[in-house]
Amino acid sequence: MTPSKLALIVLSSALFAATTPLFSQELDSTFARDPGQPVDQQYTDQIHKYTTDPSFTSPLVDYLPASKTVPTPAKVLGDVSGAPDMLPYAEDVYKYFRLLEASSPRVKVFTIGHSEEGREMIAAAIADPKLLADAKANDARLAQLADPRTIGLDDAKARPLLDQSWPVYYITGTIHSPETGAPTALMELAYRLAVDDAPYIKYIRSHMIVLITPVVEVDGRDRMVDIYKWHKAHPGQDWPHLLYWGHYVAHDNNRDAMAMTLNLTRNVLDTYLGWHAQVLHDLHESVPFLYDNTVGDGPYNAWVDPILGDEWAELGWNNVAQMQSFGMPGVFTHGDFDTWSPGYLMFLAAMHNGISRLYETFGNGGADTEKRILDPEEYSRTWYRQNPALPVVTWSQRDNNNYEETALLTTISYFSHNTRHFLENYYIKSKRAVEKPSREGPAAYVIAPDPGDTNRQVELLKVLKRQHVEIEQLSGEVTTNVPGEKRGDKAKQQTFPAGSIVVRMDQPYSRAADALLDRQFWAPSDPQKHPYDDTGWSFTHLFNLKVVRIVDPSILQSKMTLIDDPTKLAGKVSGSGSVLAVNNSGQVSLLSLAYKLKGTTIQVAEKPFDADGRHFAAGSLLIAGASDNSIPGILRDLSLDASRLAAAPSVPVHAVTAPRIAFMHTWLNTQTEGWWRYAFDTAGVPYDYINTQTAASQPDLRSKYDVIVFAPVGYSSTTEILSGVPAWNNAMPWQKSELTPNLTLDSTADIRPGLGYDGLAHLKQFVEQGGLLITCEDTARFAIDTGLAPGVSVAPHDDARVVGTVLSTVFVAPNNPIAFGYGAGVPVISASGMAFNVSNTVDHAGRRASPEAFKDPYEQRVTGRGTVEDSDQPQGRKMAEADPLLKQQPWEPKHLNEEETRNNPRVIPVQSRPDVILRFSDSKNLLLDGLLDKASSIAEHAIVVNAHLGQGNVLLFGNNPIYRGETVGTYALVFNAILNYQQLDYQHVPHEPAPVPADAVKH
Ligand SMILES: [Zn+2]
Repeated sequence: MTPSKLALIVLSSALFAATTPLFSQELDSTFARDPGQPVDQQYTDQIHKYTTDPSFTSPLVDYLPASKTVPTPAKVLGDVSGAPDMLPYAEDVYKYFRLLEASSPRVKVFTIGHSEEGREMIAAAIADPKLLADAKANDARLAQLADPRTIGLDDAKARPLLDQSWPVYYITGTIHSPETGAPTALMELAYRLAVDDAPYIKYIRSHMIVLITPVVEVDGRDRMVDIYKWHKAHPGQDWPHLLYWGHYVAHDNNRDAMAMTLNLTRNVLDTYLGWHAQVLHDLHESVPFLYDNTVGDGPYNAWVDPILGDEWAELGWNNVAQMQSFGMPGVFTHGDFDTWSPGYLMFLAAMHNGISRLYETFGNGGADTEKRILDPEEYSRTWYRQNPALPVVTWSQRDNNNYEETALLTTISYFSHNTRHFLENYYIKSKRAVEKPSREGPAAYVIAPDPGDTNRQVELLKVLKRQHVEIEQLSGEVTTNVPGEKRGDKAKQQTFPAGSIVVRMDQPYSRAADALLDRQFWAPSDPQKHPYDDTGWSFTHLFNLKVVRIVDPSILQSKMTLIDDPTKLAGKVSGSGSVLAVNNSGQVSLLSLAYKLKGTTIQVAEKPFDADGRHFAAGSLLIAGASDNSIPGILRDLSLDASRLAAAPSVPVHAVTAPRIAFMHTWLNTQTEGWWRYAFDTAGVPYDYINTQTAASQPDLRSKYDVIVFAPVGYSSTTEILSGVPAWNNAMPWQKSELTPNLTLDSTADIRPGLGYDGLAHLKQFVEQGGLLITCEDTARFAIDTGLAPGVSVAPHDDARVVGTVLSTVFVAPNNPIAFGYGAGVPVISASGMAFNVSNTVDHAGRRASPEAFKDPYEQRVTGRGTVEDSDQPQGRKMAEADPLLKQQPWEPKHLNEEETRNNPRVIPVQSRPDVILRFSDSKNLLLDGLLDKASSIAEHAIVVNAHLGQGNVLLFGNNPIYRGETVGTYALVFNAILNYQQLDYQHVPHEPAPVPADAVKH
């Protein structure tokens, strides 16, 4: 379109009276209305009233067609979609969709599952009745295209299926609860698709099925509506931000597409695959005014079919071009977002041979119409955004809905004219996924049976099952070629016994498994300097498993059988006798056994032993007196193998009880701790859920609790944890009330007060009286800053670059109870390379920061006689040999000599000096997956440290051991500490120096 035409649109729109459409239909016949269909004038008037600028709408949505039979969204909302000051609950959104279903043969509504809190999730299918009546048969055809094994990968058989099938385009709304616009936009979109007789809409209806889930995060939606109602009822006051979205996590619900821990992720994938849909298009709000983000920027995910990259470009640029022609400002598709991580909800489609898409539109976090002031980077013109957003706008929820609906309608229209093309792509991608072994490979991933790993193997297989990946088990022993470790290394032969797990890559969803099990490399020189999310995630590493990538396709000829229920692989009890022994091998569910068998005598072996023909590691459980009948069921539920022994082995033990756990959250943010809560709940570890204000008001925490878990807040400072939110203005409640029935999970009359100095004193007292405080990342920093962890400091980070990277570690204290059940090291995920320095003093003198300090001290000898290994000898006097200088290891405290300890009250007594449990590997071996650059300032530094305070302990994690359901391999570090909380102080912990293993720990 020429600039003069554009000017004409703006001019003519501005001149139209409010009752006429804002656009002349003459200008674009592609989206012309049916002139014979009457307009719902009242509704249309309201659309115009709430649209704050004529350029913020389009000919597609600036009117609403009238229907005698089908109610408009106003029937439920009382006003039009996107009207100010009103947000519907999920229930009302569903009510409308069910009204649509009842009044139009073009709409069918289905329940697709429930949230963690029991709220329903729905999907509505919209198409001509003919297509809906044919939906089952259509799905059977699509299922064959989705799994081309069913037609022998025969294109001749695919062709008629392609000719006869309708594609399914799946749109999902408001996974992010403060992004509030999608439900009303989708209500109106559904009405338009069902009612409008514009030729382009008729074409959509007759050529494809549009599937809509209007509310993905349904728990969070209802809480957001509560908050908004509270805000409207308290004009002029500050309102609390949405502290809880879903039951567990907030924004990270859109990072769950790998581990699939949340119900919403599972329900959406089951629906997407259940319909064999071709597109999953997820609606978000942040960027002005519409960012179609999948074109984004590099690097693209390395496991998707190249066709998908082109589909993103095809759909994205077409979508932008269409909206440009309407003169809508601020629409673009290239941008900063990289499509590397497969964690986003939309990426379920990318990993399952479909098309993932995501819009960011502009939202106000509610339905208030507001003046919005944009940042220069948002309104600046650049090559891919020639018509950028305006620097200052009055923005309404209706504007947002106009953009969302216009973009969706134009893109669906484009899709409806190219259904054969997209179905063909879908088939080709599915076929190539099955042909993976003979194309790019690999042929399979194989996991040999390993009694120590079984529990975590089951956890991995559960994830693969949720991903709809087929898993099989070898019927007999198989020897196959295994590639060398490095490029150019010769292949080796490896034999896998019967029972080995095989994830075949000649299956339709091979990509989902391949992307999770493979390794990731992000080049430090990559032009993308702002990775959007984690750069590494290998589940092989993060589940601490041995998964072998096999490229030799001959293994696929071996006999194997499908595994239906992976939980059956574990839960075996062998032997006979009255003592039950459960090996500790880093299982996720060992701790919960102490709660399930409460009342029985549980002892923890402090040394390894052999019994029942098996080896038991230190930390294994010995249980006497558990009632025989209940045990097998409990072990099966927890995926734990066990042995019955005739007598207790002669090995030093300590008794453990089921520790009383308080799980403490702040009122600043609950997301990152939410992942910990998820892990505790799924592992079956009970706790009291308290908050920092509880700790402030309860002087005697120790009488109630043995362990306080202070999981990460997420980017908080010590000051914020102590002070909370400033109290200059009004109180902000998080409470269930008549007005806010969904503000649950915890409660306070005012979220503003933080832990405070009373709370800090209570925490300190709790630890000094023998409690264990577990901290991580920002809460570890809090513990350091507030003197709860004497001798520990955060290591200077320098210019090291780590962005959600999987790193290699080495246990410094393999005999410490926290390390029970582990080998030489365990892969960890590190958000940004946080590590610790430890010191034998509480001031800076004993700390070590400079990498210079870690060098061989003799490297810097003075010029003189001899060699670098020799001492210099001053002439004319006797040799005075100094004490040998000790090389300091980066994870160790600086050694203090007599001079340095004399009259020094800051020297920490030996029994109070921190114990380093785990450290990073050296620079050469540190990187496992993702981005690592300039690692020397963090390499070999401590990352898990147990500090002693009074009679108790403060455990500090620099890595997050419980994160997004992905770090199953490090859960046991936390659970070991809890179970053995009374054995972590100096006199219980073995302090004999452990042999230092080589850093090339095989992970
Ligand atoms: Zn979002």
